[in-house]
Amino acid sequence: MSAQIIDGKGVAARLRKDLGEEVSQFREATGVVPHLAAILVGEDPASAVYVRNKQRACEKAGIKSTLHRLDAATTQVDLLELISGLNGDDSVHGILCQLPLPSQIDETTVLDSVTPIKDVDCFHPENVGLMVQGRPRYLPCTPAGCQRLIAEAGVETSGAHAVIVGRSEIVGKPMGMMLVQKGDVANATVTYAHSRTKNLAEITRQADILVAAIGKPNFIRGEMVKPGACVIDVGINRVDEKLVGDVDFDSVVGIAGSITPVPGGVGPMTIAMLLQNTLTAAKLQAE
Ligand code: NDP
Repeated sequence: MSAQIIDGKGVAARLRKDLGEEVSQFREATGVVPHLAAILVGEDPASAVYVRNKQRACEKAGIKSTLHRLDAATTQVDLLELISGLNGDDSVHGILCQLPLPSQIDETTVLDSVTPIKDVDCFHPENVGLMVQGRPRYLPCTPAGCQRLIAEAGVETSGAHAVIVGRSEIVGKPMGMMLVQKGDVANATVTYAHSRTKNLAEITRQADILVAAIGKPNFIRGEMVKPGACVIDVGINRVDEKLVGDVDFDSVVGIAGSITPVPGGVGPMTIAMLLQNTLTAAKLQAE
């Protein structure tokens, strides 16, 4: 038996098409063009690709996007000044600061400086707090994309044991927080695992839903997976010029019930969710 392959690329394309229609209705009704301002500091090639993909997706959905490119030597003061300008610019609805930032810049200070209403990545403590309390303004893009894929796979989350490997602020931690909420595609019993976790395989083997957000190529192998589990692979790792996930797809595909591929799984969903948040931001600011 081979797992159902969860087609993130296809789901994201469908979402983006629906969103494009919603954007066009919003533009007609209000005369407002949703606008995402992206900031890219430095020359990291992967970051440049991510930002380009996000901008292209915006354009296709009728969302304006502008790119602010700063060189690698940019100071924190200069970056904060740019963000402050964008915070005060009424034509900008969403601000995205592509990570990672160069080492002379403190990421937390920068992310905290984005005004919460324009924080379409949902990194600001105010937005994280609202999400944790179950009254989200925005949902964090990657976990929201994973949640959508779990739903698409037809997996029952209520009462399921979800094991999240990884506790980053961007992926792992909010993922668990979303699955533990009361509500649809939630109500799970959540376990977090991280680099200090003992007997990891014993824990992952208990997962009905296993989310891997580790950043280590092919880390989750078949023997770590419960037969029939839904496996969501968030990892994007470059190995010999190829993209591979955190899950060893070949050894897991014959054991899991459903699995996301890399590429074509979670990645495209992250972008679709960013567009969704940008439209939500424009709506909130048009009110
Ligand atoms: P981080 O490096 O911030 O976090 C990795 C987490 O994995 C940490 O919590 C770490 O534990 C844990 N970890 C590391 N080694 C082990 C181990 N041996 N056993 C158990 N846990 C371990 O990464 P991110 O969360 O930002 O990203 C994770 C992956 O997802 C990366 O490959 C990244 O490229 C990808 N990604 C993909 C996105 C997409 O759109 N598809 C978006 C964002 C990220 P500890 O906290 O103890 O150090």
